[in-house]
Amino acid sequence: MTTSLVTGGAGFLGSHLCERLLQEGHKVVCVDNLLTGKLENIQPLLDRDDFQFIEHDVTRPFEVNVPLDNVLHFASPASPMDYLELPIQTLKVGSLGTHNTVGLAKAKEARYLLASTSEVYGDPLVHPQPETYWGNVNPVGPRGVYDEAKRFAEAMVMAYHRFHGLETRIVRIFNTYGPRMRPKDGRVVPAFIQQALLGEPLTVFGDGSQTRSFCYVNDLVEGIWRLLNSDTSDPVNIGNPHEMTILEFGQRIIEATNSKSEISFVELPVDDPKTRQPDITRAREILDWSPQVELQDGLGTTIDYFRSLLEGSN
Ligand code: NAD
Ligand code: UDP
Repeated sequence: MTTSLVTGGAGFLGSHLCERLLQEGHKVVCVDNLLTGKLENIQPLLDRDDFQFIEHDVTRPFEVNVPLDNVLHFASPASPMDYLELPIQTLKVGSLGTHNTVGLAKAKEARYLLASTSEVYGDPLVHPQPETYWGNVNPVGPRGVYDEAKRFAEAMVMAYHRFHGLETRIVRIFNTYGPRMRPKDGRVVPAFIQQALLGEPLTVFGDGSQTRSFCYVNDLVEGIWRLLNSDTSDPVNIGNPHEMTILEFGQRIIEATNSKSEISFVELPVDDPKTRQPDITRAREILDWSPQVELQDGLGTTIDYFRSLLEGSN
């Protein structure tokens, strides 16, 4: 039987990934220190014989006493609000956490998959962004703690691949949304949906002309599954190329929730990237992958999730 270890498995993406791996018949070991994740995300999995949860900070060395076939490193604060509040933990989980987990994969002769990010492209000067673009990152700006930790992590993974022959995969994840995002994690999808459901003004940062491209979580997980099973050690973008301005996105949320909320314009955060759209040619060619879920459908499911959270908290 295949056993996969997922760090950050109690988080938004990690919990969906654990579920998918279990569906595929893997045993799953989930390692998480619950810094930004929560046990509720994996509650239904905790009783299963093929699922094990270990509460641990992966910036500290660790061992597991079972053979492993795959190590998937998803632990890291991921929303700008989180990593601005947790700058040192973010740097440590991208650097020490990556070192500890590649070391674990090497010891277990396991395949390693790193959750990297479109943030490695920074405020991109090439549009859309192909994997061959090296990026435009400000290392000393507030977002540098996340962007540079992920760039370091990619370099570490490639070094283990080249020097130790570790089988490695790097997924560069573009903005992904879906159920189990934290309502107050500050990212635009939960922020706008909550505000719209509560009839509060939607806080558009700047003039809302900056763009993003949103991928539904199930599409992302399918791409990661295909990448894990491929034989490419080069980075692969996984994201939905459907790009829109943040102002347009706010209007879509207002329509989709039937809300009377208005838009309020607030200050643009430092170094907020002006554009972002994945070039997914490589994922199409190597993985035969492209996103299948329309924004309207993905938002419907996500809005239902946030509505049920609000009803539950009343
Ligand atoms: P999340 O905050 O929901 O999940 C991160 C998980 O990592 C949490 O459960 C947290 O408790 C855990 N964690 C953090 N530091 C840890 C540590 N030192 N030891 C053990 N566990 C630790 O965020 P997410 O959106 O699910 O992101 C998951 C991964 O995907 C991250 O690596 C992130 O950088 C990457 N990513 C996500 C997106 C996105 O749009 N969601 C985009 C690009 C990259
Ligand atoms: N944003 C916004 N209002 C919010 C939260 C975010 O206008 O309440 C904008 C933010 O400035 C950025 C985009 O939405 O341009 C996406 O932000 P998010 O934090 O979700 O992810 P990022 O792509 O910046 O990592």
